[in-house]
Amino acid sequence: MNVFEAVKQAVTARQAAEHYGIRVNRHGMCVCPFHNDKNPSMKLDRRFYCFGCGATGDVIDFVSRFQGTGSREAALMLAQDFSIPFESGKNRAKPPIRPRLRQETEEQRFRRMEQHCFQVLSDYCHLLRRWREEYAPRQPGDRWHPRFVEALQKQSYVEYLLDGLLSGDLQERAAIVLAYNIPKKNGKMRPLSIPMHEGQGNADVI
Ligand SMILES: [Zn+2]
Repeated sequence: MNVFEAVKQAVTARQAAEHYGIRVNRHGMCVCPFHNDKNPSMKLDRRFYCFGCGATGDVIDFVSRFQGTGSREAALMLAQDFSIPFESGKNRAKPPIRPRLRQETEEQRFRRMEQHCFQVLSDYCHLLRRWREEYAPRQPGDRWHPRFVEALQKQSYVEYLLDGLLSGDLQERAAIVLAYNIPKKNGKMRPLSIPMHEGQGNADVI
């Protein structure tokens, strides 16, 4: 296993942040080190995401940006600081250049999609939170506003998807990205159609 894989498997973004002196609260949130943040707006788990500036990535991205180093230096630093064994790769044959380039491009593309997906979901999540308050019925007899109903139905599920993107492994994240990477139409949020089936364990969103 090379140093990148070994580090990503062994250390979470949250553990690394705490190790390098960032205070993470019990909700897994911290003050974002990448923008002028007053209240904790970054969520950390296996990966990290900032609701303020949109910074996101894995543990190596976090450390490389935080320490101002390249990814390789960040990975090596983590391996040393967390005593993670890895294959140095000195004795391995160099992979041919063409497939490697192609692979990097695909990874970059996935990252872009993932970031976009996270952005769409977190925008939607913010919107639902707002609707839940703004459109809540004021009197016991009031008719429920459709936006209030939508907030009740979808908020937990959207939060669940966001958590999946933060803490899931690559396969889980890819599944979420492929299923929910819906482009914004004319720059406006298009309502997500989230399939909800009975008996899937999301009783609170139905
Ligand atoms: Zn930020």
